[in-house]
Amino acid sequence: MDKLRYILSFFPKIRHNINIMTPTRREKFSKLFPNQPKFRWKQIESALFQEKNHSWDDVSSLPIPIREKLAEELPWLSLKRVTEVGEADGSVRKVLLEAEDGARIESVLMQNKSGKYSVCVSTQVGCAMGCSFCSTGKLGLKRNLSADEIVDQLRYWSLSQTPISIPEPNGDTERKEIITNIVLMGMGEPMNNYESVREALNSILTNTGIGPTHITVSSAGVLPRLNKILDDKEWPPVCIAISLHSADPIIRKKIMPSSGPNFLPELAEWAEAYLKLFGNRSHYLTFEYIMLDGVNDSAEDAKKLAAYTKPLSRAKINLIAYNDAAGQFKPSSPEKIQAFMNIILAAGVDVTRRQSLGGAIQAACGQLAAGERD
Ligand code: SF4
Repeated sequence: MDKLRYILSFFPKIRHNINIMTPTRREKFSKLFPNQPKFRWKQIESALFQEKNHSWDDVSSLPIPIREKLAEELPWLSLKRVTEVGEADGSVRKVLLEAEDGARIESVLMQNKSGKYSVCVSTQVGCAMGCSFCSTGKLGLKRNLSADEIVDQLRYWSLSQTPISIPEPNGDTERKEIITNIVLMGMGEPMNNYESVREALNSILTNTGIGPTHITVSSAGVLPRLNKILDDKEWPPVCIAISLHSADPIIRKKIMPSSGPNFLPELAEWAEAYLKLFGNRSHYLTFEYIMLDGVNDSAEDAKKLAAYTKPLSRAKINLIAYNDAAGQFKPSSPEKIQAFMNIILAAGVDVTRRQSLGGAIQAACGQLAAGERD
């Protein structure tokens, strides 16, 4: 593996798409302690997610010599904070994080009205999909994130939150997860980093109390990978959100250049198969729709969207207000969004309007650019 990493260091374009340049946390551990019993890694992985642990010194289940060696050799988090900013009302915080190789990404913590938190996680440094309304798309793809780096965005926020305690009737104090939802909607296209995303999701599901329907993976619609999910026994039953943004192939191609000529019919076919497999009362397929003034927000667009999604049971449309990130588009007015929503509701399709959070600190949808906004 080390030899392969060395050879690939001369081919940066190839190396971007594979995650073998940096050894994983597990590989580093095995190298440091080659003769440890198998249970040791599980013990370590579980300890990494416990909020009471803030360093290797805190992991009392490990023998002291192992803790000491780990403290010297293996960082507790694979990402370091560069800056962190928050909305004035404390509802949204955004952190700029730096990986070991200097790559930078952003992650966002959002509090909803009931006081619970969601974390928005990045999966790539930059993105190759080039969606024209998105700041990340302007960066191009720099590299995929490793599963450790994906998981550590959640761990970063868990470590920085104050745990809450709920008293039980018998006097015990039960710890509750503060972060209840995770959305893979930050920088990058998760389906273009499939293996690491799957590994990170399985690790989170194994080691936290966050259930699969509280995790949403958002995709611009990379069909070969979405189809892979249907046959992949290791893919966990998390929710999927498809960034649709238009049910008209010409308009969609204009705003999402990665969209192929048969994308819409092929996606509908996939959605039907996906919902047959995963759909149930708590598991929906969401179609994200960003509202761009004069581009995709006419009555005709609403009718096309309703007609496209209506045959799919357990599908929901989520209308998103555009945040002026790239400057090329203008947001639809609230009145226009309401009129658009009314047409979809009248057609009998489930539609919600996403509350836009984090716009003032460039933490909202389409605004993440790891400090490289122009
Ligand atoms: S919207 Fe998502 S898929 Fe499109 S460029 Fe931005 S990060 Fe990539």
